Amino acid sequence: MPENLLQIKNLYVDYITKKDVLGTPQKVHAVNGVNLDINKGEILAIAGESGCGKSTLAKAIMKLVDTSGGEIFLNGKNILDKNSKFNSKDFYKHIQMIFQNPYSSLNPKMKIGEILSEPLEINTNLTGVQIRKIVEEKIAKVGLDNSTLNLYPHEFSGGQRQRIAIARALILDPSFIIADEPVSALDVSIQAQIINLLKQLKQDFNLTFLFISHDLSVIKYISDRIAVMYLGEIVETGLTSEIFDNPKHPYTKALLSSVPELNPEMQKQKIKLTGELPTPENLPDGCKFHTRCPYVMDICKNNDPKDFDFSKTHKCRCFLYENSVI
Ligand code: SF4
Repeated sequence: MPENLLQIKNLYVDYITKKDVLGTPQKVHAVNGVNLDINKGEILAIAGESGCGKSTLAKAIMKLVDTSGGEIFLNGKNILDKNSKFNSKDFYKHIQMIFQNPYSSLNPKMKIGEILSEPLEINTNLTGVQIRKIVEEKIAKVGLDNSTLNLYPHEFSGGQRQRIAIARALILDPSFIIADEPVSALDVSIQAQIINLLKQLKQDFNLTFLFISHDLSVIKYISDRIAVMYLGEIVETGLTSEIFDNPKHPYTKALLSSVPELNPEMQKQKIKLTGELPTPENLPDGCKFHTRCPYVMDICKNNDPKDFDFSKTHKCRCFLYENSVI
């Protein structure tokens, strides 16, 4: 039985946007009642279109945005509880994040050695010699040498900067790393190197990853499990093989269909979504996917589907299965 590292229970993140005609501020549910477990030692990927709430969910776990409801447990402790024993020093020793853009995530005025030393100076009582040893170990682990430490971020390529950002994420020996589109700003030729580096570091440091990407080929290669997100909700979760070989939710099928096929016959069989794409400001009632779903039924328009379990690891939220229509 896998052991949970992180449990997300009924989580909501709302943003306040423009006012309506009566001057009342409008709430947008960016994350809408998410329940999700992340097991120790796995790479769980979140898949979904831009704007589906993937990055907002990551920021909520990192406590970078306020949540409107729900709980997040890390090793059994609710990190959103104000009385929790997790102070910010403890918290960031456990969780670190790798951002999409290595150009903006490193302070351009600091040398790499200073960037990597800073978290240790703030969060530990180690001596300068001890800190230098850890910095040298971590920079070697990401495939760079000590000469890197005296240079500034602008003196490196995009791939090298992302390696430095990864070294910084590792510096406090976290158990859990959130990687938010970590290769999408990089050249294709560099992406595979960084993905392989993350896989190797997972083994070496016994890490757990939440991996966010819009690139399904990257997700298929790196992840153990996948959660598919649509308009702030998780609509399907399963092992990577379950999602790619036997997708159940109509949105997951459409998402997988969006990957271009070289074979024209296979391309013809793909699901093409039609219908209106709702905005988070104007979410439809019932199943949030009903305005685009090729299988929509009357029940879908005013009722919320519940999760249906296909196996211990594979579940999806859709009336097609609740009612055994197919
Ligand atoms: Fe489509 Fe209905 Fe299933 Fe939603 S609940 S995905 S609208 S069939």
